[in-house]
Amino acid sequence: MIERWDVIVIGHPSRNPYWGEDPNRRVRTPVCTCTLVTGEGFRLLVDPSFSDREKMAHALHRRSGRRADEIDLVFVTHPHGDHTAGLECFPEATWCAGKPTARRLNAAGRYARPIRDAADVLPDEFDLVPTPGHTPEHHSLRFDCEGISVVIAGDATITRDFCRNERSSFGENTEEERRSVRGMVEMADALVPGHDNWCAVNWK
Ligand SMILES: [Zn+2]
Repeated sequence: MIERWDVIVIGHPSRNPYWGEDPNRRVRTPVCTCTLVTGEGFRLLVDPSFSDREKMAHALHRRSGRRADEIDLVFVTHPHGDHTAGLECFPEATWCAGKPTARRLNAAGRYARPIRDAADVLPDEFDLVPTPGHTPEHHSLRFDCEGISVVIAGDATITRDFCRNERSSFGENTEEERRSVRGMVEMADALVPGHDNWCAVNWK
């Protein structure tokens, strides 16, 4: 059973056309949204935001009272550096991702430890949802908690405004992106975008 979910770091995008910013020019360093999901026998962290150990540990403790060594599992939605940034901050946890992301990260040889196929290590409470578009191998997570369906989108949609407009991120909006966003909106009551606070999906 999943007991609770907490946003640990509220991320932000490198630029936001819905705030009037130029979509083709970075105006800030992006930080991804990081979420902790706690259930019976596991503590799963999704998309660890910070590479600096102290900063990551502080973010986790400030929002959950947990220490880094209390995290059992770390899941990353896709291979982009801003979503894998904090993996090394959790040397005692099992690291996992959707199979194609795991394969890609392992092949890059950047980490001393393997990224496992999430299908083999995720607790049964989670649905691993393929959400291609932002990257072809992107996967989101869905679970039920306290009577609502929650989707942790990752960059399958980066902010609430992108989600409402059925877009994942910058650039041309492809049919694949749109399909992935629609699918998530369909299954979610609450959604955690890749670079924004969580939002209720109450417009469908
Ligand atoms: Zn990304």
